[in-house]
Amino acid sequence: MAVVAHPDDIEFGCAGTVAKWVRRGCRVVYVVVTSGNIGTHDAGHTPDTLAAVREQEQLAAAAVCGVHEVEFLRYNDGEVMPTLELRRDIVRMIRKHKPEVVFALDPTMLWSGNEYINHPDHRAVGLATLDAIAPVAAMPLMYPELGEAHRVREVWIQWPQQPDTWIDISETIDLKMEALRQHKSQVSEETAQSIRAWALEAGRGLAPAEAYKVMLLVPRETRPSESATHNTTDG
Ligand SMILES: [Zn+2]
Repeated sequence: MAVVAHPDDIEFGCAGTVAKWVRRGCRVVYVVVTSGNIGTHDAGHTPDTLAAVREQEQLAAAAVCGVHEVEFLRYNDGEVMPTLELRRDIVRMIRKHKPEVVFALDPTMLWSGNEYINHPDHRAVGLATLDAIAPVAAMPLMYPELGEAHRVREVWIQWPQQPDTWIDISETIDLKMEALRQHKSQVSEETAQSIRAWALEAGRGLAPAEAYKVMLLVPRETRPSESATHNTTDG
């Protein structure tokens, strides 16, 4: 599961890894908290018409990577706060889809380099996602009406301040660019092209890559029989 603030956050972030994992048989669901309903300089749009366009773009981008399930929470773009309501909505998604791995935004990132101040929605969604995962989603007495408690095994922070894991996306960089191109209302061809250079930079020039900070909430070596678990939970 990938939980992000806006349509296109995944395509700028973890889409190459997602496409690679989908090829290897993983089921992936996207949770997009806002539908980007203020993200335009075109006065011909209303927030509602823009949201509809951007949801279609997000669905198309997901399909490029082989992802066919996208949940839109429809919070207002630009106004997201890490509230209990948002935490609860993300818990609902986690208990519904029972992900082993969640891709999350980095709530600690205030800026990057000297030219980019992080969007407050990114920080808010990142914080609410981590707060939903640990411990709430796994606590059966919290929100029992939202379904069975679920323990997420790993959290992968995309665009991390301090990466510790790099995924080689040589085989899916073209899909990542094609997915980004689906966000026609947002992304120029020039930006789509720059994805390759950014990925090479992330991979220190060795290969196009995506960088993550990975948290193992359930140590990999202590997990019970993976195949048995897969059979019972994914069937
Ligand atoms: Zn964003």
